[in-house]
Amino acid sequence: MIDDLPPLREVIRTHDLRAKKAFGQNFLLDLNLTARIARAAGDLHDADILEIGPGPGGLTRGLLAEGARHVLAVEKDPRCLPALAEIARSYPGRLQVIAGDALEVDPLAHLTPPVKVIANLPYNVGTELLIRWMTPRDWPPFWDSLTLMFQREVAERITARPGSKAYGRLALMVQWRAEARIVLHLPPEAFTPPPKVSSAVVHITRLEAPRFPADPKVLERLVAAGFNQRRKMLRAALRGQHKGIESLLEAAGIPPTARAEEIELERWCRLARVVADA
Ligand code: SAM
Repeated sequence: MIDDLPPLREVIRTHDLRAKKAFGQNFLLDLNLTARIARAAGDLHDADILEIGPGPGGLTRGLLAEGARHVLAVEKDPRCLPALAEIARSYPGRLQVIAGDALEVDPLAHLTPPVKVIANLPYNVGTELLIRWMTPRDWPPFWDSLTLMFQREVAERITARPGSKAYGRLALMVQWRAEARIVLHLPPEAFTPPPKVSSAVVHITRLEAPRFPADPKVLERLVAAGFNQRRKMLRAALRGQHKGIESLLEAAGIPPTARAEEIELERWCRLARVVADA
């Protein structure tokens, strides 16, 4: 028992929270597991937590039981609000719920740094938000860390190393300005109802500054072009990107015959600088 609230199965029955596909709902009902996910985000006592998609509140309860200073939860399904209000009553002043779509509401005004983002979200929404959180106008961003559930394959793409099949835009975008690792693997049966695929929790910690200097737009454009045709040699995949790309590749220390997946972050950044200067 991590708290005095009713078990989640009972909460779901009481509030008739049958999982709806339209909301991408696969709930975690094991509070020991949600407390473990909360712990994977590090010490929560001195942080505000932004939780997206609390649903019936399993992870929310894990966060609060693990001592989160304040939890701000954004939930799109209004059916979940009464269950979340019960949790708020049990932890006075520590849980605030915003009813709305996380892709549309801006919760920043309600958060005091340091902020940790923690979420078990529908996979498509999770990837969209990850990209937004990784590409703010200014760096460092509003958050210190992101602890997010993904389809296992996406988690592997985020943490992938050069030379692997999973290595690509997502790995470079995240690892340029953050540290990312998989902290937990979950089988489909961990969820109710079980999804078709396995899942993994990724913990991402931001760096104060990018690992290597580069203009974000130039870097993103080159990486996108390189991996869009990942089987092609870079001199062909990047042909449309700049006049004389072959000599620019060479100036960045990249053999023009190499493929995108062979090139590590440092040389992608070097290429972005060479292209920006050309
Ligand atoms: N966090 C809960 C758990 O672990 O059991 C629920 C997880 S369920 C996979 C995803 C939750 O995100 C659902 O409660 C769903 O209603 C909510 N959701 C889906 N799309 C959302 C969006 N765009 N903004 C906010 N919440 C969303």
